[in-house]
Amino acid sequence: MAANKTPRTKMPEQDPLKRTSNFLEVALGYAVEDAKKEAIRCIDCKNPRCVQACPVSVKIPEFIKQIMNDDMDGAFDTIYEDNILPSICGRVCPQESQCEGACVLGIKGEPVSIGALERFVGDYGMEKNLADTSVDEEKPQKVAVVGSGPAGLANAASLRRRGYQVTVFEALHEYGGVLTYGIPEFRLPKEIVNKEIDNLKEMGVTFVKNAIIGKSITIEQLKEDGFEAIFVGSGAGLPSSLGIPGENYNGVYFANEFLTRVNLMRSNTFPSHATPIKVGGTVAVVGGGNVAMDAARTAKRIGAKDVMIIYRRDKDSLPARLEEIHHAEEEGIEMNLLYNPVEIYGADYEVKAVRCERMKLGEKDASGRRRPLPTGEYKTFDIDSIIIAIGQKPNPIIKQNTMGLDTHEWGGIITDEKHMTSLDGVFAGGDAVTGAATVILAMGTGKDAAGSMDEYLRNKA
Ligand SMILES: Cc1cc2nc3c(=O)[nH]c(=O)nc-3n(C[C@H](O)[C@H](O)[C@H](O)COP(=O)(O)OP(=O)(O)OC[C@H]3O[C@@H](n4cnc5c(N)ncnc54)[C@H](O)[C@@H]3O)c2cc1C
Repeated sequence: MAANKTPRTKMPEQDPLKRTSNFLEVALGYAVEDAKKEAIRCIDCKNPRCVQACPVSVKIPEFIKQIMNDDMDGAFDTIYEDNILPSICGRVCPQESQCEGACVLGIKGEPVSIGALERFVGDYGMEKNLADTSVDEEKPQKVAVVGSGPAGLANAASLRRRGYQVTVFEALHEYGGVLTYGIPEFRLPKEIVNKEIDNLKEMGVTFVKNAIIGKSITIEQLKEDGFEAIFVGSGAGLPSSLGIPGENYNGVYFANEFLTRVNLMRSNTFPSHATPIKVGGTVAVVGGGNVAMDAARTAKRIGAKDVMIIYRRDKDSLPARLEEIHHAEEEGIEMNLLYNPVEIYGADYEVKAVRCERMKLGEKDASGRRRPLPTGEYKTFDIDSIIIAIGQKPNPIIKQNTMGLDTHEWGGIITDEKHMTSLDGVFAGGDAVTGAATVILAMGTGKDAAGSMDEYLRNKA
C-alpha cells in the first residue's frame, strides 16, 4: 500500500497560555476548506476497517466522500443514521484506538482525521438544524430508560425512531450524564450537549429529571406503571478511593465530585453559585485517564498555581486520549510518572503533602499493560489539594433496591448477549455493565439493546 504523503490537516486551537485562564473550547474545529482538504486524503478502501472499528458503525468513507463532493447535508444524514451525537463524538471519542486506529493510511503515515471531520459535519448539521427527528408509525408500548448519559440517549433515540413511547428518567437536574457533569466545557461545550439532546425531545422522547430509579421510583413500580421494557444506563458514578491514610483531610476530592462541582454547580463562580470549591497553590491529581487530565486542566483554570499528575505507570501506559495528554502538557501540567501515593499528610485538618513510592514496570498484567512494582524508594510532594481519579464503579442504588437483579462482584450489571439482565424485560448497557469505558461504547450498547428490546416487545405484543 502506498503511503499518503499529504500531512493531516491541523485543527486550529486556542493558544495554551491564554486558554488556561478561560473555559472556552480548546480545539476550534475545521473550516469548510480544511474539511475538504482532509476529506481528499481518504482513499475510500474497498474493505473499510474504520467502519468495523466504530462501535456504532458510522459509514465513514461514505460521509467523507460526501464532504469531498460538497454535499454537507448528505454527509450529516449519513452520520446521523448511525450516530445521534456526532458533534459530541467528533470531540471526545478516542479515535486513535477506534476508527483512526484502523485507518490503513496510519500504517505508513498519518490516518485520516475522521474525528475532526465528524465534528465538522455534526456542527454543520446542528447549525442548519438538519437532524432527522421523524419516527416510524406510533406504537402504544411504553419504554423506560434509566439515565440520560450516552447509553440511555442512544437507546431512547433508537426506540423512539421505531415508534415506541419512550421516557428517560434522570437522577440529576440536568441531562447528559458524564457529557454534562464530567467532561469540562473547554473540551465539550454544554450548549452542544443540550442541542443534541433537544433533537431527542423533538423526536418525542419524554425526559423526567430528579428521578432516582431504585429510590424515588423502583423498577417494580415502573413495570406497574405500564413500562413494558426498561433499559438501565445508570453509568459508573461511584469513585474508587486510594485506600491510604489521610484521605479524609480537607482538600482531598474525588474527581467526579470535583468536576461535578465545577461543571454542574459552577463552583468556580462562587458566591454567584452556591457550591464552593477551594483550589489554590499546588494541586496533585492521582490517575492517568481522561478523568485525571480533565481534573488537572480544570484545577489550573480555576486558580491552581501548579498542577501535577501522579501516575504509577509510564507515559506510554497513560490511558487518556493522546490529545488530552498533549493539551495537558501544553498547559503546563507536570507529569510525575512511576509514582504511587502511599500516604496523604495534613495539619489542622488540611492537606499538606503526599508521600509516594517510586515504581518500576514489571511483566504485563491481565490488562495487557506492564504491572507497576514498588521499588522501596519514596518522595514527598508538598501540595494544597489532591484529586483522586483512579476509576469509577457502577453505583449500587438500583441493585440494592431491585430484587433479583444480578450483578458482578465489582458492581457491573450482568446481561446476556441480547443485553437483557436477569430480570425479564429489563435490559442494561453502557458503563453500568462494562464499568468505566467510553462514550461511543456506551452508545453502541444502548443502540444494540434497543434492537433487542424491539424484538422483545414485538414477541410480547
Ligand atoms: C471526567 C470524564 C471524562 C471522560 N472523557 C471521555 C472522553 O474524552 N471520551 C470518551 O469516549 N469517554 C470519556 N469518558 C467516559 C464516558 O463519559 C463514559 O464512558 C460514558 O459517559 C458512559 O455513558 P453511560 O451512559 O453508560 O453513563 P453516564 O454518562 O455516567 O450516564 C449515566 C446517567 O445515569 C444517571 N443515573 C445514575 N443512577 C441513576 C438512577 N438510579 N436513576 C436515574 N438516573 C441515574 C446519572 O446521573 C447519569 O446521568 C469520561 C468520563 C469522565 C468521568
